[in-house]
Amino acid sequence: MLCLHPATTQLKPRIRLTGPDLDRWMGLFAEEIHRCVDQLTELDRAIGDGDHGVNIDRGMRSVVAKLDELNPPDLAGRLRTVSITLTSSVGGASGPLYGAFFLQAAHTTVCLTELSLADLTHLTEVAFQGVVKLGRAEVGDKTMVDTLHAAVLSLRLSGQRREALPEALAACAEATRRAAAGTAPMRAKKGRASYLGRRSIGFQDPGATSAHLLFESLARALPSSTNPNQPGDLP
Ligand code: ADP
Ligand code: MG
Repeated sequence: MLCLHPATTQLKPRIRLTGPDLDRWMGLFAEEIHRCVDQLTELDRAIGDGDHGVNIDRGMRSVVAKLDELNPPDLAGRLRTVSITLTSSVGGASGPLYGAFFLQAAHTTVCLTELSLADLTHLTEVAFQGVVKLGRAEVGDKTMVDTLHAAVLSLRLSGQRREALPEALAACAEATRRAAAGTAPMRAKKGRASYLGRRSIGFQDPGATSAHLLFESLARALPSSTNPNQPGDLP
């Protein structure tokens, strides 16, 4: 029988998102929110009450501390901890909305120890539906829903193209960046910004922007040995 050594098979490693990767994702998201807190404050000041950056910054610091303290053994436990912490520590609309995102995400990972692109696509679809069910916003209402919807479409497309996980997550990060920028010409129809009516036009939505940072952080969360999305790996 011919037995090939792994080094001679030329097979690409199957890259999946593990529990430690998820912790890294949350850590990177917390760092990214902290780095952009002033920018998020400015965005929310223009069409809201100016608290979005501070809200999510506080929430994500609590998430990182809680994950460290509880160290949940599985993916579902980790995602539930993120959900409960954001819901309880973030004032404003975005806390319960992100809480719903991560709670529904947790349901999709029960019994899984790592996530393939197909698993992550399913997770994002179900989590997106959780946000829509709670907030009742539609695509085009100028909210985080616009960014989350772009993430779902991008991941689905990557699956159809049979892309590897790092490439799919890089494409998803770029799709969410475009979606967040694409909220600027929209008129807000949900949340505090909707009170401004036409005066909300011309400003990028803060929640759509933080949701982009969530997926940008995800693209960088895989280990650097398998991930071209690391800043340090660029030539
Ligand atoms: P608040 O508006 O209560 O001050 P935040 O400033 O933390 O809460 O979050 C505002 C963001 O929440 C908005 O930019 C928008 O993306 C999102 N948002 C508000 N209402 C909804 C909704 N009903 N559905 C989805 N997203 C919403
Ligand atoms: Mg606000």
